[in-house]
Amino acid sequence: MQDKTFLMIPGPTPVPESVLLAMAKHPIGHRSTEFSAILKEVYADLKWLFQTKNHVFIYAASGTGAMEGALSNLVNAGDKVLSCIIGNFGARWANIAQSRGAIVEKLEVELGQVINPEDLKAKLAQDTNHEIKIVTLTHSETSTGAKNDVKTLCQIIKEHGAISVVDGVTSVAAMDVKMDEWGIDVLVSGSQKGFMLPPGLSFLAASERAWKVFEQCKYPSFYFDWAAHKKAVEGDTTPWTPPVNLIVALQTALNIMKKEGLENIYARHERLAIGLRKAVRALGLKLFVEKDENASFSITSILPPEGISVPDIRSTFKKDFDIVVANGQKSLKDKIFRMGTLGYVSDRDLLTAVSSLEAVLKKLNYKFETGAGVKAAMEHLFATK
Ligand SMILES: *Cc1c(COP(=O)(O)O)cnc(C)c1O
Repeated sequence: MQDKTFLMIPGPTPVPESVLLAMAKHPIGHRSTEFSAILKEVYADLKWLFQTKNHVFIYAASGTGAMEGALSNLVNAGDKVLSCIIGNFGARWANIAQSRGAIVEKLEVELGQVINPEDLKAKLAQDTNHEIKIVTLTHSETSTGAKNDVKTLCQIIKEHGAISVVDGVTSVAAMDVKMDEWGIDVLVSGSQKGFMLPPGLSFLAASERAWKVFEQCKYPSFYFDWAAHKKAVEGDTTPWTPPVNLIVALQTALNIMKKEGLENIYARHERLAIGLRKAVRALGLKLFVEKDENASFSITSILPPEGISVPDIRSTFKKDFDIVVANGQKSLKDKIFRMGTLGYVSDRDLLTAVSSLEAVLKKLNYKFETGAGVKAAMEHLFATK
């Protein structure tokens, strides 16, 4: 059947019809008063979403663009950067830092695990001369489904005197991220994840402490330049021609989010992710991130049952139900499959996904009690209503 695709990958994610329709209008002039009024509202709402008093910049780029927009405005060649790596996206920070000529140190854990605050403390304690200027972190590591305790980690980084640069691409608009209260110095996100928008925009906010480091940056990026973006935000405009249609759609998406409220958005993601985890366990499958406290609520990584391949699971999902789930990345390819509960996702979607998962497994001859996953998910949804 046409037009029934359900994206359960961790971005792009489903987009509400009102957001799609907002995007379908004729582009308006990006220097018009009409567009300025939209930007003014959007910039204010982004501060609300980022839980910050800092400006939030909008970049016409995917999430990686905002990551580059962070480090390219902070790093001078020869600077020391510590990258905390719990998966692919954490490694991306290290690669970007290296591309700017930084000396990169790594604090790495086994895939599926999270950074232990004590390990970070010990690592920073070795840096007795306080040479480490920047510490990069991933909040929700989309490649594994693990979630770092950003609040505690940022506190440790602050005590050391470095600045924290945090990837919130699959956490902002899905999981609680208190930029100011937790002392996050730079926070980035992207439109095709929790924002209920298509790909194309990314976001960055920087603290006063981060601005001090920016002021020491000898060769800041031109396109992503913080100073140019700050000036633009303060004038309710953008430095360069933005994707106006996406920003008009962003206004609609933010209005939907405001109606739901931050606490409800976070609670919904938690509820759906935990419901999925309970269903997976009830079916006798293993979760790649075993402890709920370490789990992202945006994305859940699942190990296939023995004898059943990830490609077969994914292709059956697609062929029989037009549901798209993700494979593992790099070394986790064909080892796990990943199901997103990110953005515009509801109880109905979870029940659809879990019952479809059961049907997929049944077809592939996995033996389990039919309905056990749906029962677990449903009971969780009722219990947390
Ligand atoms: C999607 C994603 C990114 C950015 O990827 P792009 O393809 O550049 O949008 C960065 N970090 C995480 C954790 C992500 O999930």
